[in-house]
Amino acid sequence: MADYILAIDQGTTSTRAIVFDHSGSIVATGQKEHEQIFPRAGWVEHDAAEIWTNTREVVGLALTRANLTHRDIAAVGITNQRETAVVWDRTTGEPVYNAIVWQDTRTQKICDELAALGGGAERYKDRVGLPLATYFSGPKIRWILDNVDGAREKAEAGQLAFGNTDSWVLWNMTGGVDGGVHVTDVTNASRTMLMNLDSLSWNEEIAGEMGIPMSMLPEIRSSSEVYGKGRQGGMVPDVPIAGILGDQQAATFGQACFEVGTAKNTYGTGNFMLLNTGTEPIHSKNGLLTTVCYKIGDQPQVYALEGSIAVTGSLVQWLRDNLGLIKDAPEIEKLAASVEDNGGAYFVPAFSGLFAPYWRSDARGALVGLTRYVNKGHIARAALEATAFQTREVLDAMNADSGVDLTELKVDGGMVANELLMQFQADILGVPVVRPKVAETTALGAAYAAGIAVGFWSGEQDVIDNWAEDKRWEPSMEDAAREKTYRNWKKAVTKTFDWVD
Ligand code: ADP
Repeated sequence: MADYILAIDQGTTSTRAIVFDHSGSIVATGQKEHEQIFPRAGWVEHDAAEIWTNTREVVGLALTRANLTHRDIAAVGITNQRETAVVWDRTTGEPVYNAIVWQDTRTQKICDELAALGGGAERYKDRVGLPLATYFSGPKIRWILDNVDGAREKAEAGQLAFGNTDSWVLWNMTGGVDGGVHVTDVTNASRTMLMNLDSLSWNEEIAGEMGIPMSMLPEIRSSSEVYGKGRQGGMVPDVPIAGILGDQQAATFGQACFEVGTAKNTYGTGNFMLLNTGTEPIHSKNGLLTTVCYKIGDQPQVYALEGSIAVTGSLVQWLRDNLGLIKDAPEIEKLAASVEDNGGAYFVPAFSGLFAPYWRSDARGALVGLTRYVNKGHIARAALEATAFQTREVLDAMNADSGVDLTELKVDGGMVANELLMQFQADILGVPVVRPKVAETTALGAAYAAGIAVGFWSGEQDVIDNWAEDKRWEPSMEDAAREKTYRNWKKAVTKTFDWVD
């Protein structure tokens, strides 16, 4: 068998291709950012054609840098930004509209109308595990069908396909208009609002209420099986494509959270904490989502509780791009370290409303507690602290829902390079924060799912054996100080409500 696995990580800000060896170590990486398109306030789009072009480019880059060809690759795994909706024409291979990104809030009216049918925001929750919110794919598909000329007719004639970016990349890799495979995995499907959590099949009634023809929807498969092979003339001809996991589920897998009660938190554009709850779904009473964590081939599916936070790393980007406060993301650590504390400032980045545990689409960002004393160092610090406070709120909800207190938190993602943030995170949670050696756990998880499907790895035990700790931060803040600053944060959150008419 070939000696390597290739993972494609189609993320929100960039697409990465990473070659892994049998020990789960990175051999080479290719990465390219794509354009973030903001046509109006609250709208966020990506050009799906650009994403596909970038995917091919980064795979080529990774293979070249590793000095390998497709013959050295035993399987390909795909992981992706979840919820982001692509609708394309099966006959031309062209997207009918830009991809509508998970952060986009344009579907608020559609969500309100569905809620008004009865049951409010919880209308579908018992079946799909999710509240009605702009975050998920179903209403985004509906928006495209309602607003793109001719789309509804074509969809009803069976000409259009929907997918998250996993399906879009897979369809193109396996042949596109020449027989591309139109499939998704259970984890991605669990973020559409259209899949029954228990049977893992599409819910025709909900699709009907949202006005989405069933013919648009991909076939739902497990997260680890051979879906198809790379097309002839493509980047990886004949190589099995054998793993798909939504990015957060992939990171949970790559962090070896296989035991009930284990959790990880990923710090990227947003933050996502997932807690493995085993083979029965747990319905949250504290604002968390119930989602599929993974399903390996024919084995029973495993569920997770998820706390999703819309804006964490993207606040750092905003300070860089919109305010010019820093030149690059890592610089925020130096700026934050130039002051002792937040100087009384609290920054609640409710740019896309607030996700877990509030689910307030009417919330907008607020920077409060300002005096003339506050300088840019304090603002940098308040921005980093916002990530840690939001994480504390999610962890509290998880502890309440599961009835068990988490004793440590495994972390990953772009922001965990920030040591000041990691120390503050441990302080504000009161439990140790642990970073693994391979921080690219998202791509790694997808690689494991693919490798397990083709026998490159034997199963979960290989993942556990390969996991290694890099660094651990112990809490060092006094209890009274912790609770005081957390109370202030909670007060700041209340200032963000009711900003949208
Ligand atoms: P995604 O997978 O969501 O695209 P990544 O895991 O690549 O995101 O993380 C990128 C995010 O992390 C960006 O939003 C960036 O602003 C933030 N980031 C990167 N490095 C740092 C740092 N040293 N300190 C704080 N934030 C950082």
